[in-house]
Amino acid sequence: MTSVFRDEHWIGGAYVPSASAERIGVENPYTEEVFGHVPAGTPEDVDLAVSAARAAFDGWASASPAERGAALTRLHRALAARADEIARIVGLELGTPLKIAKAVQAGLPLTVLAGYAELAAQPAHEETIGNSLVVHEPIGVVGAITPWNYPLHQVVAKVGAALAAGCTVVLKPSELTPLTAYLLADAFAEADLPPGVFNLVTGTGPAVGSAIAGHPGVDMVSFTGSTRTGAAISHAAADRIAKVSLELGGKSANVILDDADVVKAVKVGVGNAFLNSGQTCTAWTRMLVHRAHYDEAVELAAKTASGYTLGDPFDAATRLGPLASAAQKERVRGFIDRATARLVAGGLDAPVPGQGHFVAPTVFADVDPDSEIAQEEIFGPVLSIIPFDDDDEAVAIANNSKYGLAGAVWGSDARAVAVARRLRTGAVDVNGGSFNPFAPFGGYKQSGIGRELGAYGLTEFQQVKAIQR
Ligand code: NAD
Repeated sequence: MTSVFRDEHWIGGAYVPSASAERIGVENPYTEEVFGHVPAGTPEDVDLAVSAARAAFDGWASASPAERGAALTRLHRALAARADEIARIVGLELGTPLKIAKAVQAGLPLTVLAGYAELAAQPAHEETIGNSLVVHEPIGVVGAITPWNYPLHQVVAKVGAALAAGCTVVLKPSELTPLTAYLLADAFAEADLPPGVFNLVTGTGPAVGSAIAGHPGVDMVSFTGSTRTGAAISHAAADRIAKVSLELGGKSANVILDDADVVKAVKVGVGNAFLNSGQTCTAWTRMLVHRAHYDEAVELAAKTASGYTLGDPFDAATRLGPLASAAQKERVRGFIDRATARLVAGGLDAPVPGQGHFVAPTVFADVDPDSEIAQEEIFGPVLSIIPFDDDDEAVAIANNSKYGLAGAVWGSDARAVAVARRLRTGAVDVNGGSFNPFAPFGGYKQSGIGRELGAYGLTEFQQVKAIQR
């Protein structure tokens, strides 16, 4: 297996050594071997990176849309040239099966970045309201902190939008999957963007993440990760009234009405719940089925889940890879162990490969909507099926969650859209409507604050100014 050792941070347009000689090992969750390392950064590294981002800000903020658009187009080209390597590295550090890694882990961020290159080239929105000229300006230096489940997508959703808006960035990727971000730094080097517009500091949350969140030189913190860490970051930023945008957890409902195409709804629903081994914030982890189709749906979901091939992410037959870490596996097994609902597929005793952090695709039926597996984000391949009697009850169960990130509704179009409008979530897919990488993405309730992706994602990184004449 290839080893990937990175000993430096990317700061001010160059690879520079960390203030600390400490390293963080990167494990392959399938082989369970450490195959690389990155620096365990320090608050001094963050200081250096913030200074570089600040020094670059005025120049980048005042660059013309054409200049910023051209720079991001060069960046996209350099990143696209690394697409196969991105998929391979995500396969190694996260365990995503290669085919899915190519399409989602590499393909999606490239699509998102291409969109931001186009948006960057357009003049910032201006309008006249009475005697006021209203202009949009970049907010300043952005601190970006990201998780491990979609390592490059989550980075590009922030970096692409912030740069397109005219901001500069200090990024800290997850210490579990930090290697993909180096491919982005390599692309920055090749594309020859101005030094300091993008800076990468690797390290742990408590050391580097909290130094970014609390840094007086950071004007906005853009975070994706757990609700708990999101709250800690909000507290850190509150002391200096810095803006925070948060993309957090979810517990999304897949509502299957009595006039739905049940077979399609269940098959697509199971696929969605188990994508990336269930480590997806938008995963439809609660399947709500009208009682008229309930038994059929439970049987089909159990059969579909049992048909998954688990194994080596680099084997073409593999549909489900391991979980990202031993800790994640134990966490997920704990939820399964404590569940009291009817187990219809998977479970703790189901066979899994002899190596790697695997949990078998698991389906519970007759789940109490208030129980732990229906309320908490498990972040593993565990699906809860819940019956309902009418649309009002379906909406009530779906909205019985502290989260509000995503969801789905299946049924005749007008009725399904009417139910979709009643769900308290940032996104709803009706009858299999596909993910739109340019539509606003974000959460209600404890799923977050703010929106990412497309034009809405860009405006998060802008201030609004009114000039009266
Ligand atoms: P996490 O909150 O543990 O870590 C996320 C990032 O925050 C990591 O880079 C980590 O090092 C850093 N961090 C940890 N403690 C910190 C602190 N005190 N101060 C500053 N930074 C700190 O989350 P995770 O385990 O990496 O990711 C899984 C979670 O992310 C899930 O809950 C999932 O739902 C959520 N998520 C949300 C979205 C979304 O867009 N809504 C997308 C993907 C993942």
